[in-house]
Amino acid sequence: MPYAPSDPPVLTLTTGPVDAYPAVLRGLAAPVLYDYDPAFQATYERVCRKLGEIVKSETVPVLLQGEPVLALEAAAASAIGAKDVVLNLVAGVYAKGFEGWAARSGAEIVELAVPYDEVIDPAMVEAALKARPDVTVVALCHHDTPSGTINPVAEIGAIVARHGALFLVDAVSSFGGMPVDAASAHADIFVTGPNKCLGCPPALSIVGVSAKAWAKMKANPAAPRDSILSILDWEDAWRADRPFPFTPSVAEINGLEAAVDHFLAEGAERVFARHAATARACRAGIRAMGLELWAKDERFASPTATAVRTPDGVDEAALRAAVRARYGVVLSSGRGATLGRLTRIGHMGPTAQPIHAVTAVAAFGGTLAAFGRPVDVGAGVAAALASIDAG
Ligand SMILES: *Cc1c(COP(=O)(O)O)cnc(C)c1O
Repeated sequence: MPYAPSDPPVLTLTTGPVDAYPAVLRGLAAPVLYDYDPAFQATYERVCRKLGEIVKSETVPVLLQGEPVLALEAAAASAIGAKDVVLNLVAGVYAKGFEGWAARSGAEIVELAVPYDEVIDPAMVEAALKARPDVTVVALCHHDTPSGTINPVAEIGAIVARHGALFLVDAVSSFGGMPVDAASAHADIFVTGPNKCLGCPPALSIVGVSAKAWAKMKANPAAPRDSILSILDWEDAWRADRPFPFTPSVAEINGLEAAVDHFLAEGAERVFARHAATARACRAGIRAMGLELWAKDERFASPTATAVRTPDGVDEAALRAAVRARYGVVLSSGRGATLGRLTRIGHMGPTAQPIHAVTAVAAFGGTLAAFGRPVDVGAGVAAALASIDAG
């Protein structure tokens, strides 16, 4: 096999961590300033304000100094108290995982779950809130990455807003790759990060917070303070004239500014179109090879990741290892309940380029063919190219 496990891969087409934009790498290489140097304080404020333009939260977004699991755990600890009733909408592994953090508060958790190849139907949320008018917090994972499926966040958000509950959204792997932001989602706490579609390495969380969410966190006696899990400690830290609770990730902030500048310069519409076109070409290629998408309905499929159902009798881990060994291409496995049942091809940040879909289809199909499976690799490549040419 041409690529030993110790050789660096040729192409990383994963669902996170993802390849970083060259401009981000240059940003990371900037001099590491003292965090109280006025030049860095100005950078920090500028980055947070620019993020506000794309996160579209009611208040300037908060940065937490760790990859987005930190923000998810911090959001649960800060916004959920023992007296809350949480409706947890579960269409995948991340949403299910949120239950553990939410339950730590002592709150009652009401679960609304669907099979992990389906998505949450807004009508089910409406019915659940009617049955439990005492629900005070609703949690949703927009793109449950280990399934590659997109939940209808705006419709659900509108229902939650009418009900009056706090709406907590994990948009880590969709934000920056498709049209979603705190405003359109009606999210009170909108958790995302730079390490998926914005094309940065994993190290920071971005949290959009509504006025209502600030009030709820301040009223929660259990909300962490003087803690790595505190969101409240960072409320005004974006302002150049305010202190940081502790040292921010200086280099990563420089990288994030480069990512946001890249996004703004390319323009949201073009960025989203590039992600969508890549996913479309990928799905066309996968289906033309006679393989099945994980998503039960193609309308559920994400524009930032394509999950392919593992054919019966194929060892998924061995398949991915062989794709890497033969072609130097790295793909993602499932996680938890989807582990071993699907393979994921990421279209995030710099890898959201349609031609990468052709590479992914060829590498994935070529390996299955080498495994003796009846896949038509030529048809897959042709379909992916035709999808690109159709625009
Ligand atoms: C990537 C991701 C996160 C961040 O968590 P990791 O598992 O540590 O990468 C959180 N939520 C979703 C939906 C993600 O895709």
